Amino acid sequence: MTDTKQLTIGVLAIQGDYEAHARALQAAGAKTVEVRKPEQLDGLDGLAMPGGESTTMLKFLERDEFFETLQKFLKTTPCFATCAGVILLAKRVLHPEQASLGLLDATVERNAYGRQIDSTILMQQTKLEGGPLEMVFIRAPRITHVDKGVEVLAERDGFPVLVRQGNILAATFHPEISPDTRVQKLFLEMVRAAKK
Ligand code: GLN
Repeated sequence: MTDTKQLTIGVLAIQGDYEAHARALQAAGAKTVEVRKPEQLDGLDGLAMPGGESTTMLKFLERDEFFETLQKFLKTTPCFATCAGVILLAKRVLHPEQASLGLLDATVERNAYGRQIDSTILMQQTKLEGGPLEMVFIRAPRITHVDKGVEVLAERDGFPVLVRQGNILAATFHPEISPDTRVQKLFLEMVRAAKK
């Protein structure tokens, strides 16, 4: 029997395109809650970490032990990260080096595709069913290395752009601003599976 209970997904709402994440997750069938304080993580089924500026988000996370609380929370709760969110999650961040939660076994190079003007929209094949996926890249980081245990679901020019590791789903592009909700639906399936 399929579980029809609506999932509650927090959206880290410090900065960046968290409203787009909330809208896309709602379109995929979830209830969403904006998270601005560590105590708001309590009781959530999953968390989305949006695109934006990872340095700005990091500064904010330094307050009230938000960083440590988030790190602990994400060890047991599924997370969907895009762009700056992936930078926050990665184990190693380059260009320049910066602190991160260290939960995704990957090396990420910030702003690796050039400047704002080099942002681009591509239609790419992925391992998801349903044909090519629209991928919006905005000052995107590049995943230059993944450790064993990270499944690559899509690539751009030979580099991973959509990856999964356990309860983490991470995209260097922005599925939240495309009309296609397949990536969100995959995340909600992961959240549902983690609850069982
Ligand atoms: N360049 C941003 C950073 O380094 C990420 C860009 C994005 O999230 N669209 O944090």
